[in-house]
Amino acid sequence: MSIFGATGSIGQNTIDLIARDPDAYDVVALTGASNIDRLAKDAKQLKADVAVTADPMRLEDLRAALSGSGVEAAAGHDAMIEAAQRPTDWVMSAIVGAAGLQPGICALEQGATLALANKESLVCAGALILATAKQHDARLLPVDSEHSAVFQALVGEDMGSVERIILTASGGAFRDWPLEDLAQATLAQASSHPNWDMGQRITIDSASMFNKALELIETREYFEVSPKQIEVLVHPESMIHALVGFNDGALMAHVGPPDMRHAIGYALNWPTRRALPVERLDLAAIGALTFRAPDEERWPALRLAREVMERGGLAGAVFNAAKETALDGFIDGHLGFTRMAEVVDEVLNTSDPSHIDAQMTLDNVQAADHMARQVAKNIIEQTAG
Ligand code: NDP
Ligand code: MG
Repeated sequence: MSIFGATGSIGQNTIDLIARDPDAYDVVALTGASNIDRLAKDAKQLKADVAVTADPMRLEDLRAALSGSGVEAAAGHDAMIEAAQRPTDWVMSAIVGAAGLQPGICALEQGATLALANKESLVCAGALILATAKQHDARLLPVDSEHSAVFQALVGEDMGSVERIILTASGGAFRDWPLEDLAQATLAQASSHPNWDMGQRITIDSASMFNKALELIETREYFEVSPKQIEVLVHPESMIHALVGFNDGALMAHVGPPDMRHAIGYALNWPTRRALPVERLDLAAIGALTFRAPDEERWPALRLAREVMERGGLAGAVFNAAKETALDGFIDGHLGFTRMAEVVDEVLNTSDPSHIDAQMTLDNVQAADHMARQVAKNIIEQTAG
């Protein structure tokens, strides 16, 4: 197995599971970016063949940390791709952002089972990912908790009898804030999630609902359902991860604690189930689960996702790149919280349509991504200036 994004939240949860039974796994590559100490420690512990940092400036540090261990050290984009091309049976795709796309495609090209946490891959290039998997007889397993939940609810079912898929959303940090306060929300406030412990970027995306927006598109791409069949339901307790509605009126809900080791473990052990170290819910103690409709005024990202699905083509790549750039702007203090959605909206409306209408190849996806980042940066600079 290999773990891309091993040093992040999903990567560490994956390592937590495999470190409980290290002899069962032959670890080929672990990748990270800035966290060299963690990367080296885990690569040594798991006896990986190679550890790769995306940052070429950190190669010497990684080499020093791995010296004498027998683990190869490598750095930079080409090294990342080379590691992703090393044959292995199972790969966790847990790099954050569009940077996860190409390594994931490389793994599929080797015929590996790709456990996909990196939802951005499907948002940017869903058709390309699915076609690559098909061409190389590789399997794609969802790791995003909602998509794992839907996948599990569909076991033994016929897609033809599915009426709708309901993605639950906690509502993030600001679900109960007065609307007029959102523009002033700070980075620290947006970086704290009520239920889930995740990387900073997805935590902020949960507060803005950009995470759920990405997940709407991810659902459309992965399960090949129409956008009208996908709904969002605010569920503050984060115990029900998703529901599938069938044509006989039945709703199958997946219920579990907010712990990513469930979805990761399901993908790791699939098609079997094995015991996992996650809390067993005491529903009597929990007492009540609550639900509410999503408020599109509070969360304009949901409307934008619907527009992107309507537009099709490479609109997802433009949307994701604009979102990543706006998020950088918010993290760096150049953009207010509510401005993120406005910037993304503006990028979608002003982008050169030829990028969106281009054929879905990796080159074209990367070109659309690059263009959208430039447009977004210009808008942010004008705002700041
Ligand atoms: P983190 O920010 O915690 O980790 C991201 C990982 O990617 C780290 O290993 C980081 O390295 C690495 N990385 C960052 N930038 C680059 C780059 N340019 N090139 C290569 N590697 C890079 O993110 P999460 O673990 O929270 O999320 C990972 C993915 O999983 C995302 O797509 C997210 O949407 C998805 N996901 C996450 C969930 C969660 O619970 N966290 C739930 C569902 C989906 P380093 O840390 O060393 O800098
Ligand atoms: Mg999710």
